[in-house]
Amino acid sequence: MQAAVLLGAPGSGKGTIAAAVARESDFRHISTGYAIRQEMESPHSEIGIAARSYMERSEYVPDELALALVKGILVEAGRGAKILFDGFPRTETQARRLDSLLRDLGGRLAGAFLLQADEAVLVERLQGRRSCEGCGTVFNRVWNPPTVAGICDACSGALVQRVDDFEENVAKRLKLHEEAAHGLIRWYDESGRLTWIDATQDPEVSAGQILAVVKT
Ligand SMILES: [Zn+2]
Repeated sequence: MQAAVLLGAPGSGKGTIAAAVARESDFRHISTGYAIRQEMESPHSEIGIAARSYMERSEYVPDELALALVKGILVEAGRGAKILFDGFPRTETQARRLDSLLRDLGGRLAGAFLLQADEAVLVERLQGRRSCEGCGTVFNRVWNPPTVAGICDACSGALVQRVDDFEENVAKRLKLHEEAAHGLIRWYDESGRLTWIDATQDPEVSAGQILAVVKT
């Protein structure tokens, strides 16, 4: 089993780049945010029930909850699996526990990648995000606009701005991320496992840099 982790602030493009890596390799892209929302849709999921109040306040779920989710994903994926996590770990505690989890499961960390961009870039990207009410496809007014403004290319649904992306919430999310990520980044950096990636370059270029590490 191999796991790689993609770190970076909201707006750094983790989802896009993780998807590009998955297309070009046998790594599976697992967005833990998406996995939590799936759990929340399942009425009997203990993780989903416990996560709801945090997600509704745009807060990160506690370490124990994130770790329970990730452990379930790794165990289910099985021995030969290769997984690229996007949205996990978010704290140093989660990173340390991922190391022990992988050790227990006979796996290894294939790489840790930090997508870096200036705050001004992140704010512009986050505030420009619009998602389709119908199918969930995400567009960006600045760098990935729909053909017709306000209308989804895929299903003609209406494009709306998520509450998370309102100006006041963008500032809150970036601050929250910054506080949690500091120790996390140091944990991977000081153990010599961190690769820094320029998040302002073409996502395909970033994906190529990640592939060069995980394929060795
Ligand atoms: Zn749509």
